[in-house]
Amino acid sequence: MSLFSDRLEQHFYNAFCSKDNLYCATVIPSGLQEPRWVSVNRRLAEQLGINPAELSNPVLLDMMSGNAVPAHLNPIALVYSGHQFGVWAGQLGDGRAMTLGELSVGPDGELWDIQLKGAGTTPYSRFADGRAVLRSSIREYLCSEAMHGLGIATTRALCLVDSKTAVYREEVEPGATVCRVARSHIRFGSFEHFHYLNQPESVRALADYLIQRQFPEWREDDNRYLNLFENAVTQTAIMVAHWQSVGFCHGVMNTDNMSIIGDTIDYGPFGFLDRYDPEFICNHSDSGGRYSFKNQPSIGLWNLNALATALMSVLESEQLIAVLKTYEPTFLSHYRALMAAKIGLESVSEGDEQLINQLLELMQRNSVDYTLFFRSLCNFNDADQSVRDHFIDRDGFDQWANMYLQRLQRQAWSDGQRRDQMRKVNPKYVLRNYMAQAAIEKAYAGDYSEVELLLTVLQSPFEEHPEAHHYAGLPPDWAEKISVSCSS
Ligand code: AMP
Ligand code: MG
Repeated sequence: MSLFSDRLEQHFYNAFCSKDNLYCATVIPSGLQEPRWVSVNRRLAEQLGINPAELSNPVLLDMMSGNAVPAHLNPIALVYSGHQFGVWAGQLGDGRAMTLGELSVGPDGELWDIQLKGAGTTPYSRFADGRAVLRSSIREYLCSEAMHGLGIATTRALCLVDSKTAVYREEVEPGATVCRVARSHIRFGSFEHFHYLNQPESVRALADYLIQRQFPEWREDDNRYLNLFENAVTQTAIMVAHWQSVGFCHGVMNTDNMSIIGDTIDYGPFGFLDRYDPEFICNHSDSGGRYSFKNQPSIGLWNLNALATALMSVLESEQLIAVLKTYEPTFLSHYRALMAAKIGLESVSEGDEQLINQLLELMQRNSVDYTLFFRSLCNFNDADQSVRDHFIDRDGFDQWANMYLQRLQRQAWSDGQRRDQMRKVNPKYVLRNYMAQAAIEKAYAGDYSEVELLLTVLQSPFEEHPEAHHYAGLPPDWAEKISVSCSS
């Protein structure tokens, strides 16, 4: 089997970068000193047709730490702009990420971008150093795989490298690289960039490129741009519905952090809910709570509005408005179905939304742990109502449970069937901040075993993992004090 790097191609490079420097810039990675593997993601390697044995090859370590670039490749950084916290921020771009190449996967030759994050400055780094510290790299590596394990669209992570390169943040920390993998890294902000530069022909060229690469079946379709926008609206609505259903808070939903294909992208100060609190803000820098948990669905729409504006040169405003109107019903139908499945309903019927909302209100008032509760609810039946112990207001729960039992009687599943179905949608494990923190602290002491353990557990979060049982309970008290802010 050929070495993974030999399989990398350069479609984006050939389509755009060799013509002019409008869309991207060629870059040379700055390598890390004394690179060491922290982890390689064997599952993803297999999906990409990479022999996992190749991943421990020293040649690959050189490549994944930015110390060597295969001769046939010209790494690129993509330009984009964006709205940050609701304000136009102008040009941004891959400040510390570079696309090494594109990997052709499977019989249909699906292309996947292979990106290196943390390998030094690019023309879009502005005043920053192009580096990523080990701490934030571990968080991204684990969370993107955790999201994939939960069945949520996301960028993936192929491997993680630690080093002796000193990176200056509040204190000196080790520099690291993550290899990020995605079908596309194009963001809402990529389109906004050319729109605000008043370059409609570039907006169109980018849309054409995306269609050519991602949606070849639309190439000849007169409605191809409409399809592209419809897809962005639908996939974003579905992605956010999934986030809400698992209690995931992204933290920085700027338009430059929104993938055009609806992947969760740019893991920074994300957090999973511990106790159910719709006001939860995971990003320490987000003092106004713009990106709080409960705001995510409406921010998704805000961002799609920004994308619609950027597409005004290729679509009529009536078309854009009509598609934008589908966001809310798409979000709601997916969210309702996901929540109904969480409480073990075979299908959604009238009154279910109220039942779910009553439960969520009760959980909020009683500070009930989101993940733990739904997993415990899998075992609930006439005889076993121990899940009520999650609530201080037991009477309140009992009243809800009565309605719930009546609802369950109206469907065909036995308790056992319902329990099995519920365990497939209510994870036993999510990446709580304290778990990432435990892996980070060990890694800073030179022990990467916790990263490996969490990777294994989070890749199949619905299964039992006795070796990680201690991560299946309530978070420790000190977890409340962990504070995470923007990229590091
Ligand atoms: P983020 O908050 O991670 O989405 O980053 C916003 C912008 O800042 C993006 O264009 C990043 O590429 C860039 N950026 C963040 N951190 C760094 C860094 N250490 N060096 C260079 N650019 C960075
Ligand atoms: Mg970003």
